[in-house]
Amino acid sequence: MSDHTASGVDLRLDRAHSARIYDYFLGGKTNFLADRMAAGSVLGVFPAALVAARINREFMHRATRFLTEAGIRQFLDIGTGIPTSPNLHEIAQSVAPDARVVYTDNDPIVLAHAAALLQSTPEGRTAYVQADAHDPGGIMAAPPLLEALDLTRPVGLSLNALMHFVTDDGRGRAHAIVDTLKDAVPSGSTLAMTHATPDFAPEAMRGIIEIYADAGTELQFRSRTEFARFFDGWELLDPGITLSHQWRPDRPEDATHVTDAEAACYAAIARKP
Ligand code: SAH
Repeated sequence: MSDHTASGVDLRLDRAHSARIYDYFLGGKTNFLADRMAAGSVLGVFPAALVAARINREFMHRATRFLTEAGIRQFLDIGTGIPTSPNLHEIAQSVAPDARVVYTDNDPIVLAHAAALLQSTPEGRTAYVQADAHDPGGIMAAPPLLEALDLTRPVGLSLNALMHFVTDDGRGRAHAIVDTLKDAVPSGSTLAMTHATPDFAPEAMRGIIEIYADAGTELQFRSRTEFARFFDGWELLDPGITLSHQWRPDRPEDATHVTDAEAACYAAIARKP
């Protein structure tokens, strides 16, 4: 079985897709039987997947509000996912209506739903670039990005739950990709990231890697040290590297309602000196 959009893109509804599995965990409607079966297998080895997905998404909400309040007015969100309100631009523009946001994903399903990401305020701007994170130079040179963002002014890079989809193959690719993005933005820019880790629930994380591999998606979960290396040369903002729910929680109890093993995902924000 396959499905086609008006543009003729094969959405492969018969195969589980990472963006749709994540959408299912978030309680979204853009997922199909194959995605829900894979999601069920993930829940079998890691019952906390629902809460882990939600708190990962909530980190993006808090990080975006924090950065916009700190003066960031343009964002580049790579691996943005199937639109789930509030999306990054809705949060940034609720603080600063003139905020500009460029979204990127390589999944045709996200492209098919991109209209929801393009509902900007009149004062601000949003754009969508269909691109693969393996080509960071191509992303930074994409015409819609260059029209929407001024790369002489600080940019808030958002790589939320993205880089564990980039494996290293022994060549350190993931860090090289992030370094290219960091080099392309000026002083005062920020990097906000979450990344799944095997540090607290190694068995469960191994199980997840196998389930995604069966669905044709490679994953690489990284240790705290490997996560920290993504921020090399930039200044980590307070409170540094935490589990996703523990980064500047809205209420103190939000930092303790799940265990580290249930969160299984690091978060941090750093600023370019
Ligand atoms: N950032 C969102 C969604 C995370 S799900 C959030 O945190 O809520 C991960 C997203 O990364 C999916 O939409 C998937 O399609 C995308 N993705 C995975 N590998 C990618 C790649 N190589 N290039 C671009 N996007 C990628």
